[in-house]
Amino acid sequence: MNQSQNSSLDLPIKTIFILEDEPDIAELIAINLKKSGFKTKEFTNADLFYKQLKKEKPDLLILDLMLPDTDGLEVCKSLRSNSSYSSIPIIMLTAKADEIDKIIGLELGADDYVTKPFSPRELVARVKAVLRREIDLNNQDRVRVADILEIDFAKFEVYVEGKKAELTNTELKLLKLLLHKKGWVYSRGQILDYLDPDDKGVLDRTVDVHIKNLREKLGPAGKLIKNIRGVGYKFEV
Ligand code: CA
Repeated sequence: MNQSQNSSLDLPIKTIFILEDEPDIAELIAINLKKSGFKTKEFTNADLFYKQLKKEKPDLLILDLMLPDTDGLEVCKSLRSNSSYSSIPIIMLTAKADEIDKIIGLELGADDYVTKPFSPRELVARVKAVLRREIDLNNQDRVRVADILEIDFAKFEVYVEGKKAELTNTELKLLKLLLHKKGWVYSRGQILDYLDPDDKGVLDRTVDVHIKNLREKLGPAGKLIKNIRGVGYKFEV
C-alpha cells in the first residue's frame, strides 16, 4: 500500500497524554484513543508526567482529578500558569459528580471534563471536539490567516492578499505544519522528519532553504514565519 501518496499532506499523529493512577482506566482510554488514530502515553503519577513533559509536549492531556502524589487541579493550575504549557488542552476526569468540582476544573482552565464512570466513546468524542477548536487542518480545506493569507489545501493553492502564490508541495507541507499549531516552535529536526521521514541524510540547512523560499513566495505574509534562534521556526500571527 502506498500511503505516502494519499497522506502526503496529513499532519503528524496527535499525541494524548493520560495522567491517571488507575491502570485499568488509563488502559481503557488509551485503547480507545489508539483505535481513533491517536498516539497515547500513560502516566500513573504527576512526577512521571512532568518528567516526560520536559521532553515532549502533548497535543492534549487527559487529567484525573485524584492522583496519588498531587491533585489534578494543581497540575491544571501549574500548566496554565506556565507559558510553555498553557495552550495544552486539558480534559479532566473526575469521580466526584458534584458541580463544584466541575466548575472549579473549568475555572482553572480545563477545556472540558468527564465524570467517572464514563463511556470511552464519549471521552474520545470530547477529545476530538476539544482538538477541533484548534485549527484542524485535516478537516478543513480552506484556511484564512491574519487577513492576508488564504490556503486551500484541497486544491493545493495559496493566496496572499488575494494573489496566488506558487508553492511547491514541500513548501505547502511546511506551511501546513507551521500553521497546525500557531505559535508552536518546531525544531529543524522535527520539520525534517515531517517533510521527509525516510531520508535521514538531509541536512538541517535544507529546512532553512525551504523556509527562505516559502517566506519569499508568501511576500508580506512571509514575516509571519519567525525564526527562533537555536530552536527552529514558528508561525505567529
Ligand atoms: Ca485517581
